[in-house]
Amino acid sequence: MKDYYAILGVSRDATEEDLKRAYRRLAMKYHPDRNPGDREAEEKFKEISEAYAVLSDPQKRAQYDRFGTTEGFSTDFDIGDIFSRVFGDFFGHEEDIFGDFFGHRRKQRESHIRKEDIRVHLTIDFMEACFGTKKKIRVRRSEICSHCGGTGAEIGGIATCPLCGGTGEVSYTAGFMSIRRTCQRCGGTGEIITKKCKECKGKGFIYTDGELSVHIPAGVNDGDVLRVRGKGNNGGDLYIHIGVKPHKLFKRDGKNIHIKIPISFVQAALGAEIEVPTIYGEEKLTIPPGTQNGETFVLRGRGINAGSVVGNEVVEVFVEVPRKLNKEQKRLLIEFANAGGNDVSKDFISRIKNLLS
Ligand SMILES: [Zn+2]
Ligand SMILES: [Zn+2]
Repeated sequence: MKDYYAILGVSRDATEEDLKRAYRRLAMKYHPDRNPGDREAEEKFKEISEAYAVLSDPQKRAQYDRFGTTEGFSTDFDIGDIFSRVFGDFFGHEEDIFGDFFGHRRKQRESHIRKEDIRVHLTIDFMEACFGTKKKIRVRRSEICSHCGGTGAEIGGIATCPLCGGTGEVSYTAGFMSIRRTCQRCGGTGEIITKKCKECKGKGFIYTDGELSVHIPAGVNDGDVLRVRGKGNNGGDLYIHIGVKPHKLFKRDGKNIHIKIPISFVQAALGAEIEVPTIYGEEKLTIPPGTQNGETFVLRGRGINAGSVVGNEVVEVFVEVPRKLNKEQKRLLIEFANAGGNDVSKDFISRIKNLLS
């Protein structure tokens, strides 16, 4: 049995970067172009490319680590592909040489399992959005089968496609032309499953219908989209579209909270100390004498505390004029008017006079 780690000369906990470095070093050494006519170097080059092809693929590597074998999943790969992936444009022109050298490329068996993103909607309360929360959401999603690593086959359950003989293509003659097309039997992979994986029944993935615990950060707003990496289908991402329920008193403006508070015209005229609701509880606010309808006051730091900036609460007051007065109130207001309380701003009157003249 081949020890891929030994072939590349790396330890079993080698990182992706370690593997790439090792492969790069060895590939430079055993590259057929550098060793023309040397069969041994060519064999060696194939071997290190195979080792890298398996170990650089997380699924294949996991299965190799677990079962210690390359049986049961495709070790077929395109050396030109691997080489150009690692070396980029460095050897760019040589891709063609490899195509001829080692036969033509075939599709990888697990390529039919696609990563897919999942989108879900989640509605939360206003306060949950302000302070953050943890939510459990139910998502039906598929995961790559851990038993077969996505190949859909039991160990040893993959055979060369009998229709195309493993090439992934079939050719037929029409008149004097020979036409090639992707093999219908194996879908171009060159392989068929003879023994389906008993866990996933050959699909290569398994549906789960579990609950996911999701952390919703403080300050999240209506319309925001949160991404949970790897929790989509087969390693795709999960996107959570947030809806925030409106609040009876508060309104959001980014990290600031807005609220409208009624005050009596006496409080507006004389000034007052009033209690104002904030998202942290009641707070005292001093209204100065002569406060006008629609005037705003800021409670610093009483908005949303998330990130580097803390929001404020903006309090807008509206002056309520009483709809009904009792006898005593009426008498006092008339007295108030007679004492000069009918006066409105001189500025205002002169402005009106200007408009009329
Ligand atoms: Zn076939
Ligand atoms: Zn499976």
